Amino acid sequence: QVSDRLQVFGNLESNVRSYCRSFPAKFKRASGHQLWDAEGRSYIDFFAGAGALNYGHNPPEMKKKLIKYLVEDGISHSLDMATEAKERFLTRFNDVILKPRGLNYKIMFPGPTGTNSVESALKLARKVTGRQTIMSFTNAFHGMTLGALAVTGNKFKRSGAGVPLNHTLSMPYDGYMGRDVNSIDYIESFLKDSGSGISLPAAVIVETLQGEGGINAASDEWLIGLANLCQTYGMLLIVDDVQMGCGRTGTFFSFEHCGIVPDLVCMSKSIGGYGLPMALTLMKPELDLWEPGEHNGTFRGNNLAFITAAAALDYWESQAFSHEIEEKAELVCNALVEIVASVPELKGEVKGKGLMQGIAFEAGIAEKISALAFERGLILETSGTDSEVIKIMPPLTIDRTGLVSGLQILKDCIFDIAV
Ligand code: PMP
Repeated sequence: QVSDRLQVFGNLESNVRSYCRSFPAKFKRASGHQLWDAEGRSYIDFFAGAGALNYGHNPPEMKKKLIKYLVEDGISHSLDMATEAKERFLTRFNDVILKPRGLNYKIMFPGPTGTNSVESALKLARKVTGRQTIMSFTNAFHGMTLGALAVTGNKFKRSGAGVPLNHTLSMPYDGYMGRDVNSIDYIESFLKDSGSGISLPAAVIVETLQGEGGINAASDEWLIGLANLCQTYGMLLIVDDVQMGCGRTGTFFSFEHCGIVPDLVCMSKSIGGYGLPMALTLMKPELDLWEPGEHNGTFRGNNLAFITAAAALDYWESQAFSHEIEEKAELVCNALVEIVASVPELKGEVKGKGLMQGIAFEAGIAEKISALAFERGLILETSGTDSEVIKIMPPLTIDRTGLVSGLQILKDCIFDIAV
């Protein structure tokens, strides 16, 4: 069946394959949490454009604003120039997101992707501190360019590129050394020992929950401990919120839960609101030491994205959206716990937070589930070094019916695989 449908690729076969997983269909249309392929089959989306579609496909209110802007011949591309669309986004971001949270950041448009944001943060941290080393963590994922890859803790992603690993320091993420080991104490033992041979890092880059790395959530205590280490040793704290930001874990920023205030924050994916490329690097005002031209790029003025990004912030004007995410997260968590308990032979472990949850299995099982689910109309990603985790990452706007239907397909697939 799958091989029959592979034929629908037709001329797309000339497209170089670089994504790690393939979904054998040619998609035509999408709305909310659903997609339809060229043959009219429908799919529930538990993948959400790898986190770029937190507000679903073609959200109507954003679409309307986008169409109006296009009809009125709005600027589409403006590099670094000032435009009304950019000003409106910045004003809304300050008013709706930063001020109510008591945060004061300058906002940089580092380029269109999450990787661009990470690169800008790493460069700025080195410039500001005069130090060179960047500390990152086991199983981290920060992007695909050489600098971002150097702080990525995944040998598979690094393979083939001969990534230079000088001036990087990979340390154990929360839980990596076992649940009972405090890796913050372990990390500090290197930093405080002049005999360790480690030069003090310019910055620490961290995901509060590792999405690509296998849905590993750091505890609040660990994140607070890390922020304290940064204070003590003069390291800047960079939170990579490219995937966990924009509400994925329940609050707009993933670090709001534990009250830490990073020096730099990397954002992309859903910040554009409509799947349009856009990224932000937030920095404490005193860190803005860029000289003109020091971090350039052609595609930093995507005004279509500014229009939808400003509209997306409407969701965050009250607490209601966060509450909805929490309710749906509870529904997902209960369903996953029930599924895992019903098939003890698969030894599944439920992981995650907010609408970034999953089940870890022994290697090989999650990929089978993902393939079978796709056959049955559910798009599901896997994550982790051995693709051992099934990742449940629907649009945050998915309704209860969509969520329950998707979870039912997942349950059936897991039961069928267990037999
Ligand atoms: N950081 C994190 C945490 C990510 O999950 C990703 C993308 N999966 C990136 C950075 C890179 O973003 P992009 O693919 O837009 O370059």
